[in-house]
Amino acid sequence: MQSVRRQLLGGLVGGLLPGLLPLGVFSQTAEKGVIGISLPTITSLRWVIEGLAMTRFMDKLGYRAILQYANDDLAAQTAQIEDMIAKGASVLVIGAIDGTKLAPVLQKAADKKVKVIAYDRLIRGSNHVDYYATFDNFQVGVLQGSDIANRLGLAEGKGPFRIELFAGSPDDNNAHFFYNGAMSVLKPFIDKGQLVVGSGQMGMDKVSTMRWSGSVARARLVGILERNYAKQHLDAILSPYDGITIDLIEALKKAGYGQGGQALPFTTGQDGELPSVRSIIRGEQSSTIFKDTRELAQVTATMVDAILSGKKPTINDEKTYNNGEKVVPAMLLKPLLVDVKNWRAALVDSGFYKPEQFR
Ligand code: BGC
Repeated sequence: MQSVRRQLLGGLVGGLLPGLLPLGVFSQTAEKGVIGISLPTITSLRWVIEGLAMTRFMDKLGYRAILQYANDDLAAQTAQIEDMIAKGASVLVIGAIDGTKLAPVLQKAADKKVKVIAYDRLIRGSNHVDYYATFDNFQVGVLQGSDIANRLGLAEGKGPFRIELFAGSPDDNNAHFFYNGAMSVLKPFIDKGQLVVGSGQMGMDKVSTMRWSGSVARARLVGILERNYAKQHLDAILSPYDGITIDLIEALKKAGYGQGGQALPFTTGQDGELPSVRSIIRGEQSSTIFKDTRELAQVTATMVDAILSGKKPTINDEKTYNNGEKVVPAMLLKPLLVDVKNWRAALVDSGFYKPEQFR
């Protein structure tokens, strides 16, 4: 899996930007200022696509972008941000690895009057977060929960069905929004007994997955299957992210699901990653949530330009994202549920993927 991903990323990155350093990109123009873009990792394709897209948008607007990936390592991300400040960045766009631990480095940014945009993931515990550009994260969870509810026919009173719950990284504010959104749909059915959590594991303290790691989630599922499903069928899994879902499906197949009349459980996901879209087409993963990261990159570049031109950036939410110190003004984009019915229209006709990637 990992090597497939690497090849895919290598191909994409190589094709788009031949001058790419292993973990950084530096664009050429600098007339209007330097923008630091710090993103978590290249192991998930979304961050690669949007990092490069943002760099291009910044370039077009006349800024020099410094793009760095921090390999999911908090210390590396902090060092990269410090370096961007030292290189004279006037705005930082940060997709946090651990959204709870960046306050000290943001203080350094504030001391130099550097503006900060939290990108996709909220940065918590700091007054120095000026804006937040993201998707409607609660709605992502609502879409995931509703997809399970629809597939199982819960509104029509069907059940009981067995479900297991997986959530994202506890240090990522988004993971809580996704989980709460999904549970806003699923919990009433659990309370009515139409859904039964076989393992009994509920709540972020029990179902979260550090750093969104597929292998960590997979190990948890293997234990649950051994302990709770030796004689019973698992009907659905709430999974927050495609990279996790793919690993869960592998574990399920190893345990005998997807063969001999033993149907795979319904599974959700997020990001419209290629392996997951292919899995959806094969009839394995049930759905994913597509977030058009090209649009998020563009909105963010426009936000940067507005800030540096002394204008007020466009926002559409001033109440949802309290980071513990302030409510951060946010621009929320719309997520879309994608499954076997609409993947082509949503992902290929929109130009996000090329038709030949599905041949
Ligand atoms: C992002 C998701 C992504 C996850 C894992 C979240 O913060 O919003 O799109 O699936 O991180 O990378």
